[in-house]
Amino acid sequence: MMATAMDPSPPHAPPDRYAALDLLADPTLVVGAGGLVEYCNSMAARLLGVPPGQVIGRPAAQAVPLFDDAQADWWECVDPLRADAGLLPRIPELYLYVRPERAPPRLVTLTAARIPAAGGRTGRLVVSLRRAERRQRLDAARSDLVSTVSHELRSPLTSVKGFTKTLLAKWDRFTDEQKRQMLATVNEDADRVTRLLGELLDVSRIDAGRLQLQRHMVDVTEVVHRMVERLRTRDSDDERVVAVLPPGLPRLYADPDKVEQIFTNLVENALKYSDGEVRIGATVLDRSVLFTVADRGAGIPMAHLDHIFTKFFRRPGERRTGTGLGLFITKGLVEAHGGRIWAESVPDEGARFFVSLPLGGLELAGIGSDPSEARRAL
Ligand code: ADP
Repeated sequence: MMATAMDPSPPHAPPDRYAALDLLADPTLVVGAGGLVEYCNSMAARLLGVPPGQVIGRPAAQAVPLFDDAQADWWECVDPLRADAGLLPRIPELYLYVRPERAPPRLVTLTAARIPAAGGRTGRLVVSLRRAERRQRLDAARSDLVSTVSHELRSPLTSVKGFTKTLLAKWDRFTDEQKRQMLATVNEDADRVTRLLGELLDVSRIDAGRLQLQRHMVDVTEVVHRMVERLRTRDSDDERVVAVLPPGLPRLYADPDKVEQIFTNLVENALKYSDGEVRIGATVLDRSVLFTVADRGAGIPMAHLDHIFTKFFRRPGERRTGTGLGLFITKGLVEAHGGRIWAESVPDEGARFFVSLPLGGLELAGIGSDPSEARRAL
């Protein structure tokens, strides 16, 4: 289309055939055989810090400077337009730095497709640049995961293997009490492995947004008492846990197993990181029930309060065993219920965790008409 005096389109208005590329969420450019940028979508313009009109028509190597780790100019070294589009139709994903004139340098992943012209030569190159910082963080988190998992699995498995081997080889040389102690350790370590595997499954479900809740109207008081009982039968010293919940706490529309897991994680932490009493409380507010789990341990320094819910965060120098996944999972479980979790702490006076779970039920679920369920909700 010819530009006329009345035509408001800029001199480098993108050809209509590329209009659909503007809908892509990834920065995308089309470079012609001569090396000039033919099209730049708005995400690419944003990445480069200039309007598309200031990129289109310019040599790609200048408008979109790309460098590898060794500071080598990618356009110059690879000369991507020279290759035969029939033989090498795609450039597989690679990490590069884009160093725009008007925007901060960024790590990106580049993928590109060569569109053939007559004779198999490259007629155009469609380049897609994706910001890679998030991806790099994920890669780093993944390798943290692998190293934490290997470490956390190795120590209990080493002990399971060691004690079992010793018992099998020298059964008659140990007293009953010694054998009981070794088997108790093996039993505990096997539990640790099971727990860790459970945590990893939860983390991957939370990360993938695939946490499934089996919700119905739940009496949280019952859930909390059941959990306290369970802890007492498991660890005899857990007279330390005291639940003081107001009578007649409204039922919540929640997944009872997940709610139990939320309280178990917070209470087990409180038991682990303090010596005294651990108190569970609740207050009914306008639209939510606010639960608290408070201990009287050393507390959490202010600087760490924001980080404790992050995956793998453990306080520097923490000597008690753990993976740093518990609070991340707890937060994921609370948020899946539409709730919030946070912590407060006065050093040396203990830590207090708050969990707010929304009140109401059927309307949260979009259920309206089952009168028996509605009655139970009250
Ligand atoms: P883990 O206990 O496996 O390290 P969590 O995610 O449960 O992982 O907790 C993260 C960190 O937060 C812990 O390493 C600990 O330093 C701190 N923390 C959690 N709960 C408490 C508490 N009640 N008192 C003091 N510090 C705590």
